[in-house]
Amino acid sequence: MRRKLVVGNWKMHGSHPANAELLAGILGARPFNTDVAVCVPFPYLSETAVTLAGSELRWGAQDVSAHEQGAYTGEVSAAMLAEFGCRYAIVGHSERRAYHAESDQLVADKAKAALARGVTPIVCVGETLQQREAGETEAVVKRQLSAVIHTLTHCIGEIVVAYEPVWAIGTGRTASPEQAQQVHALLRAQLLAATPHAADMRLLYGGSVKPDNAATLFAQADIDGGLIGGAALKAADFAAICRAAE
Ligand code: PEP
Repeated sequence: MRRKLVVGNWKMHGSHPANAELLAGILGARPFNTDVAVCVPFPYLSETAVTLAGSELRWGAQDVSAHEQGAYTGEVSAAMLAEFGCRYAIVGHSERRAYHAESDQLVADKAKAALARGVTPIVCVGETLQQREAGETEAVVKRQLSAVIHTLTHCIGEIVVAYEPVWAIGTGRTASPEQAQQVHALLRAQLLAATPHAADMRLLYGGSVKPDNAATLFAQADIDGGLIGGAALKAADFAAICRAAE
């Protein structure tokens, strides 16, 4: 039985007082009978680590460099994240693929760099609205995941995958539970062909998950939790989504 995982993606939001209030609200809503993590902007990783220390809540970054170290101005390595206890790193979020032209191979290399330092990559895949309407959903998500499978080889079972249809992110337009499950089943089958551990891997759904739609999404056979954007910025909503995963 896979334990569900709910991850908040704060994106580029936050400030010292806002973060303190949000984290206090989430901590105050515990206990959750599910795994919970927040992925925060780089400058706030350290204070998040301190605030969550001693709790079962985990924290992560929203990106990681594919490189070990060196002349890569502005990048943050997996070794740096690991040095102070970072558990997760989101890689290949559609906003990074779109605004920073991240290729499938770069995303795969980032996932490899994270894993090499014991940071679990949350690898995002998902199609645009145009691709869905052109009937390309399956081909797109399989191509994105395939790059990661080929790069990580026998370690592929150690990642978390997040299916995030681009048309559902921040739009208020959620994939129906059936649409989401259909893609999750495809991804699970692709992973099963690559690793015997696929049955234990967690596949998250992301895209306008809210307290009122989370339970039905999480009830689907291959949906093992969520990657939550907007609703992760309100402690009450995030806590309600975590509850829906219990
Ligand atoms: C996300 O950014 O990963 C996301 C799923 O955003 P939202 O929940 O706001 O659609």
